[in-house]
Amino acid sequence: MKKLPKEFNIQEIEKKWQRVWEETGVYHFDWNDQKRPTFSIDTPPPYPSGEFHVGLILNWTYFDMVARYKRMRGYNVHFPQGWDCHGLPVEVEVEKKHKIKKTDLPPDQFRKLCEELVNKYIAIMKEATTRLGYSIDWTTEYKTMNPDYWRRTQLSFILLYNKGFIYRGTHPVNWCPRCETAIADAEVVYQTRNAQLHHVKFKLAKGDHLEIATTRPELIPACVTVAINPTDERYKQYVGIKVHVPTTSRTVEVTTDDLVDPKFGTGIVMICTYGDKADVKSVVKQGLPVIMCINEKGKMTKKAGKYAGMETEEAKKAIIEDLKKERLLGKTESIEQEVSLCWRCHTPIEILEREQWFMKTRILTGQVEKNALEIKWYPDFMKYRLIDWAKSLEWDWVISRQRVFATPIPIWYCKKCNEVILAEPGWVPIDPRIEKPRIDKCPKCDSKEFKPERDVLDTWFDSSITCAVHAGWPDRKNWHRLFPASMHPSGVDIIRTWAYYLMVRHLALFNEKPYKSCLINGMVLGSDGREMHKSLGNYVASQEVLSKYGADATRQWAAGGGATGSDIPFRWPDVEYGWRFLIKLWNASSFVSSLLKDYAPSEKAEPSLQPLDQWILSKAERLTEKVADAFEKCQFNTALEETRNFAWHVFCDCYMEAVKDRLYKPEVYGKERKKAAQFTLSTVLHTILQLLAPITPHLTEEIFQMMYADEEGGKSLHLSHWPKADRKHVDEEAEKTGDMIMAIIAEVRREKAEKHLPLNTQIRKLTIYAGEKSKAEMIRKGQQDIAGTCKAASVEVLPEKGVGREVQPHNIFLVTGY
Ligand SMILES: [Zn+2]
Ligand SMILES: [Zn+2]
Repeated sequence: MKKLPKEFNIQEIEKKWQRVWEETGVYHFDWNDQKRPTFSIDTPPPYPSGEFHVGLILNWTYFDMVARYKRMRGYNVHFPQGWDCHGLPVEVEVEKKHKIKKTDLPPDQFRKLCEELVNKYIAIMKEATTRLGYSIDWTTEYKTMNPDYWRRTQLSFILLYNKGFIYRGTHPVNWCPRCETAIADAEVVYQTRNAQLHHVKFKLAKGDHLEIATTRPELIPACVTVAINPTDERYKQYVGIKVHVPTTSRTVEVTTDDLVDPKFGTGIVMICTYGDKADVKSVVKQGLPVIMCINEKGKMTKKAGKYAGMETEEAKKAIIEDLKKERLLGKTESIEQEVSLCWRCHTPIEILEREQWFMKTRILTGQVEKNALEIKWYPDFMKYRLIDWAKSLEWDWVISRQRVFATPIPIWYCKKCNEVILAEPGWVPIDPRIEKPRIDKCPKCDSKEFKPERDVLDTWFDSSITCAVHAGWPDRKNWHRLFPASMHPSGVDIIRTWAYYLMVRHLALFNEKPYKSCLINGMVLGSDGREMHKSLGNYVASQEVLSKYGADATRQWAAGGGATGSDIPFRWPDVEYGWRFLIKLWNASSFVSSLLKDYAPSEKAEPSLQPLDQWILSKAERLTEKVADAFEKCQFNTALEETRNFAWHVFCDCYMEAVKDRLYKPEVYGKERKKAAQFTLSTVLHTILQLLAPITPHLTEEIFQMMYADEEGGKSLHLSHWPKADRKHVDEEAEKTGDMIMAIIAEVRREKAEKHLPLNTQIRKLTIYAGEKSKAEMIRKGQQDIAGTCKAASVEVLPEKGVGREVQPHNIFLVTGY
């Protein structure tokens, strides 16, 4: 056993162990080990933004604690790591950086530039995960933009196509005019905004008019009917009558639709293709025509007549002016309205019709619910987020995107007859935009010319097969060894995307649920309780935190910040408290190591334990059980608080103080009793290090290596076995006795403090009135420790009730004579 130095440099210690852990491969999953049970984590591959923000610290600390705990529980843990590379923000940045447009270059050259940028960002983020000490098995690293991952994504497309889950169709989709791509329901966010509700007059043939109310007059050229609620008596007589659509030469018929709210505006609405999802329903129900007056760039089309080419906002103004001129504009009122926005760029979305690829997801809703109820959720109520979301979906998942930097759809079309040519499983990875299909002629018409599908796949289509990919699909025959994943960790904000898409994709592909449990983390807020954002001045960079206090202090903030699943603010005081605890732990360990220099832990013959030794050993056993239970339930804040309080206040403040005298004076107490204290110090500190190991892996490893590794022959604390709760050390009687003894010592110290006396002031005589005989006997067992710690020349324990200072809550009284 080495003696720990007084000082320590956390940055050096952390870096050292990160290097050693990586070099010795302690976190590698062992495929050859058939003995240990496996535990597989479906690590979400993060999007390489170039910044490992504090929100990611929270997520990754959560699953790293699980990985480390499970490893110590004897599991062969699979903790993989990948990167979810594709996406629009990369395209936009590349365009900006190189001052080009994505269409200026062939797709493969544009891709190269995107890949360069992504690789740079991955390097930055990888360094941060290393600095935080995450026990990732880096031999598993993958990037969704690499051909090997394309192969898996494209293969999954082919399989789903052949199973009938994928279809191409013309169906209205959510469209972001800024990103110029279709987006899924999961990528739409809502915001309440002020809007102007315009009353517009639609002329009837005989000169009269009907007034409708709309917030989007620019859609008037796309009006396909004017509708009222069938129960609305006010307008009954107009049903079936034709009205003239302002700004156009068209007329439409007045129809009834029970989706119309008679209380909104005038009770008459225009149905356009498309103002919102309700319009889509009405068009389908009534078999109405579709007039697309807005295009993919958010500009008015030829169908909008004289407004063609205008931006929608421009067209709105022009149409309002024209309505005014023609005296067709009634009143305008302000209302609050919910607007649908693109989640990436917050531009209001349009609903457009365009041929797209879809995956049938709604037919799986029943299965999603059934499986979500079977899965273990941390915290439990989160399962309803998934179920409610699945049930709320009205459309299938649109999986095609009109972008460049994404996985290509492995499809061509026959130029002559338009037959769909699907890639064979053996062809992938393949980019149809560059390569031809590997067939001589069209199977239908014998034509030899093909055109590629230029659309690409939604990035969620890449990342929603990770449970299978992590397990080794499709290459490892025994991939079911790690599938379904033992745990899928996810942020509360992406249950509707990540957790949901994983579920439907694996159900469709394999008819199996992808994960057995789901660990949900909340969001990280600024210290002011608002969303953390650079523009709000409450932003904290993880680099700053790490440089100041290191990983182990930062991880304590993540573990202890709040209950699992709840949003937690970033608080510097939490990190600082974590840092002070590390100093306390180090100082205590250093002191213990000096007290143990003549102690050989190998001669573990049970020494003659004293009441205080039994007391803390018993409490340590209880703590071990409590902390294990907390880790099992993913209650990380409980695990941390319990261990930290015990280490700091019970072990350091109470026990260590109370046995010092015994350790310093074996000539008074006897060698056996000294050995008992040494055994207890060594055992309890060892337990504390193990319980803390999942949370503060670096400093605990450093202390373990200095003090215990030689004796135990262990390679790493993180490969040591979680302390077995040994019931034989749990001793109610010893705890009661120890509590009383500790309370007496604390009371004497309090008295010295009140009298402004140094703690080592000699007491001539200490009289303890136990109040009853049995209590007196218990206290007498610790009489020597009391005398030594309180510096009392003589201690007398009497069974009778007495007067003096009360020792709460034991109903004991004491009198000191100096
Ligand atoms: Zn957008
Ligand atoms: Zn053909």
